[in-house]
Amino acid sequence: MAASPRRRSVAVNIGGVQVGGSNPVVVQSMTNTDTADSASTVNQVMDLARAGSELVRVTVNTEEAAQAVPTIVGTLRDFGVAVPIVGDFHYNGHILLKKYPACARALSKYRINPGNVNIGRKQDDNFRTMIEAAIEYDRPVRIGVNWGSLDSALLTRMMDENSRSPAPLSAAEVMKRAIVESALRSAENAERYGLAHDKIVLSAKVSNVQDLIGVYEMLAARCDYPLHLGLTEAGLGSKGIVVTAAALSVLLQAGIGDTIRASLTPLPNGDRTEEVVVCQQILQALSLRSFTPQVAACPGCGRTTSTFFQDMADQIQTYLREQMPVWREKYAGVEEMKVAVMGCVVNGPGESKHANIGISLPGTFEQPVAPVYVDGKLVKTLRGDGIVAEFRGMLDDYVARTYGAAQPAAVLV
Ligand code: SF4
Repeated sequence: MAASPRRRSVAVNIGGVQVGGSNPVVVQSMTNTDTADSASTVNQVMDLARAGSELVRVTVNTEEAAQAVPTIVGTLRDFGVAVPIVGDFHYNGHILLKKYPACARALSKYRINPGNVNIGRKQDDNFRTMIEAAIEYDRPVRIGVNWGSLDSALLTRMMDENSRSPAPLSAAEVMKRAIVESALRSAENAERYGLAHDKIVLSAKVSNVQDLIGVYEMLAARCDYPLHLGLTEAGLGSKGIVVTAAALSVLLQAGIGDTIRASLTPLPNGDRTEEVVVCQQILQALSLRSFTPQVAACPGCGRTTSTFFQDMADQIQTYLREQMPVWREKYAGVEEMKVAVMGCVVNGPGESKHANIGISLPGTFEQPVAPVYVDGKLVKTLRGDGIVAEFRGMLDDYVARTYGAAQPAAVLV
């Protein structure tokens, strides 16, 4: 079953990357370095961009961070990394954007959280100041509501109104509606202050899958701003990945969502680029975009008592991912390639024949040979200790032969 047609939205240009309209769903990520530490931030942005992040957000929380932003962006450009940098502002964005024009200019988009921009104020002057900065520097904004920092005055008002209603809704339902209202009213105010309609992206993040789906369905039905999807505080490890994939897949399948992020909690010193890979895998699994050749590998069973085929599947997947920055430039369409690494003769040859190139390793008690299929035909039988290296060589040959004559693909990094 194909995904529903994409919901109609306006396209917003974020530093040269088009979000919304009929453009492909954009993958984005966020650094977790101290932005004031420009060297660490540059390195992490480069890692994220190299992994395929098409927008990277950095927190701009202090004067030091705001001062570091132009250096970060300048250094990235010196290294040839063109990924747009988005500034994440909370509480003091109105001060920082005004006081540090070089920061405002270096950023490609400002993220504004309407729940904490005007704390303690009756008027939305701080919000307005940020919108005026966006107008002055011709930058788009993302109005990013988060249920952890929802506008408490708005929520209280809606809860009060609900309690007086003859058919009151549940508190959870009012909360969801308040999240949507906060995003839409802020967007309406931004336009009233002069920001163009096609300079606004919306997000409304919660941490529960069903709530997120409900909130975005409401938001999608009520506006044509591009929507940034993400489950906030998705969490650690497999739990974070599964809940993100579950929530985003339902929405993307329904045609909702123009840019996505996986807010995974990395382990200390863990690899931040995992959040990029997860977004890419979600889009590729839904056949919405292709990023990396996919490896079909069987789960193994009692017929494979050694770990050889697991190691091989892992090595081949890693090899493919490592080659992609180079292959992407040289071999257009290589990201569509399918590779099979199978554990035994039961499903090995069949799965290999469905792949562009596949290998079926010998299971326990099988003859120690590994037939390789290319475009559905048996072309070679490998044996001995050099199977992995030989198969990698065949992969390289296949890629050069099959995708070499095509035009170079666009380079995003
Ligand atoms: S292909 Fe062979 S090793 Fe792999 S799961 Fe199936 S029977 Fe087991």
